Amino acid sequence: MALIPVNIKDGTLKKNEIIVGIDLGTTNSLIAIIDRETNKPIVISTNDYELLVPSIVYLGKNQNPLIGNKARKYLVEEPQNTIFSVKRLMGKSYKDVAENHTIKSYKIIDDNTESLVKIEVDGKFYTPVELSSFILKELKNQAESKLNVQITKAVITVPAYFNDSQRQATRDAGKLAGLDVLRIINEPTAASLAYGIGIAEGEQKIIAVYDLGGGTFDISILKITDGIFEVLSTNGDTNLGGDDFDEEIVKFWLKKYFINNDISNSKNDLQKLRLIAENAKILLSKTNSFFVEYDYKNQKIKLELSIDEFEGLINNLVEKTIKSCETAMKDANLKNSDIDEIILVGGSTRVNLVKEKVKQFFNKSELHDKLNPDETVALGAAIEADILAGNRKDILLLDVTPLSLGIETMGELMDVIIPRNSKVPQSVAKQYTTSKDGQKNLRISIYQGERDKVSFNRKLGEFNLSGIPAMPAGLPKIEISFMLDADGILKVKAKELRSGIEQKIEVKPQYGLTDEELEKMLLDSLVNAKNDVEYRSLQEAKTEAEQLIYTTQRFIEKNKNELSDIEIQQSNKFVEVLNTALKTDNKNEILKAHEALNHFTKPFAERLMDKAIAFAVKGKKIE
Ligand code: ADP
Ligand code: MG
Repeated sequence: MALIPVNIKDGTLKKNEIIVGIDLGTTNSLIAIIDRETNKPIVISTNDYELLVPSIVYLGKNQNPLIGNKARKYLVEEPQNTIFSVKRLMGKSYKDVAENHTIKSYKIIDDNTESLVKIEVDGKFYTPVELSSFILKELKNQAESKLNVQITKAVITVPAYFNDSQRQATRDAGKLAGLDVLRIINEPTAASLAYGIGIAEGEQKIIAVYDLGGGTFDISILKITDGIFEVLSTNGDTNLGGDDFDEEIVKFWLKKYFINNDISNSKNDLQKLRLIAENAKILLSKTNSFFVEYDYKNQKIKLELSIDEFEGLINNLVEKTIKSCETAMKDANLKNSDIDEIILVGGSTRVNLVKEKVKQFFNKSELHDKLNPDETVALGAAIEADILAGNRKDILLLDVTPLSLGIETMGELMDVIIPRNSKVPQSVAKQYTTSKDGQKNLRISIYQGERDKVSFNRKLGEFNLSGIPAMPAGLPKIEISFMLDADGILKVKAKELRSGIEQKIEVKPQYGLTDEELEKMLLDSLVNAKNDVEYRSLQEAKTEAEQLIYTTQRFIEKNKNELSDIEIQQSNKFVEVLNTALKTDNKNEILKAHEALNHFTKPFAERLMDKAIAFAVKGKKIE
């Protein structure tokens, strides 16, 4: 029997219930289920010709967001209102994206802090979680109208390299879309399940999953032992994919046919050319040449591309992916002959040159490429969902923790440290910091449950970490570790890493908790998901605003001799506006005033940046 972790203690699961598998992609997203007649996974859609939902959200004036193909045309018409590739921003802070700011068509707020990024469209602020939830909701609606049942449970995939906060953001997006996210699984793991690898008893394998999508490339090396997937290494390029192939074709045609024309100045014409280039690329995975007559300014231009020309254009890009494979193999400490199976994932692996180069590099004559590469991950997610639904008798279930465990952070928010359905034993550590200068004591409160406001969850215990040496706000590094052992005992340790002081506590999360209570807690979290996310984002906005006011005032106080009167007066005015906004409890007002104050003070804050004062808000504040 293979071991796959499952939530056997989850009282809300009903037999044969539909749980969907979702691939929330950078370029395209899909939803899949197990077809009960054939027992095979299938992608579902209301329109059989459009199985993929492009991961695009159009936020037009006074209307509901448009998703997918309906949003696509606005990429050209209203780029500032049309969000694509939001997956790149999931769980990222401003600092994370600052260095790597490739998306320029819509507005990502520029604020040099460690708080999570927001996107501004027409005076409204959206988080990547909200935007992703629009895509998930579209997929959910699509499946519901096709299957004619309500869908509330899902497995969602993420890249293997996603960190905790990116995974948490994906969970939150699911919850906001009205989905109980039973598990977040790695895309390469899903791909492997789709090919039936990793399910058999006693199976031991090392596999390479090569995933080339629209805008990203990932290589993951996994070790499978009895149904447990271990990531040995990952590598890749978050800015390399099929879109770059299209771009090369466009450049080639521009040089060849439009040398004396002004086409490269027209966004619309360029976008059209890009779509033709994508078609050419797609056709060339089945034929040897492509041509089309292109109407341009009353003349017909014959655009041509042969397979040799195409392969010449993309050769360097494909070579780059092979370099990543090389690094991943080195990092995993493996020789090419150690790899048992290779799986191809992502629409761009349909390109013949890609297949050849991968075969060549790994020195294999066969690859797993029989499934549609853009569906593989979603199909695997549906298989995992089926396992969770208890429909696969051959799989032994491991013990998992039925409710999330975490601590209280500023604004009475629950910060999850061990997510529900994590397998036991489990050990996780996260870092936090302080919000006020010279803070010497911290109260750590431990909670269990799925709600965003701690008072709706179960309190398991609390303790004080005292004797922290006086330091400016944001400087202490407090590491909280949760260790949940196989007997269900949770050991919590808090340690201030600079001074080394620490404190511990032990609690029993499941003690006194009945199945009915557990079921109610899970149900409540889904029913209240929207309120909860609103509460959380308001609290986070307030905390960040209060922090900015605090640091601005401290900054002015400390540097008043270096600042002009105008700078001080204006800053105080912006602080006042922010203070007024805080009283409204209106998230958009607060964010707008925050942005205004930040924008105004940034130039002179940078000018005077006093290293001892952490002007930027750093990390999550416990108190
Ligand atoms: P993501 O995982 O990034 O969401 P997908 O796996 O859906 O992306 O891949 C999308 C990419 O696959 C696009 O660049 C698309 O042009 C490309 N693609 C789809 N079909 C083909 C094909 N037949 N030949 C070459 N590229 C293709
Ligand atoms: Mg993908």
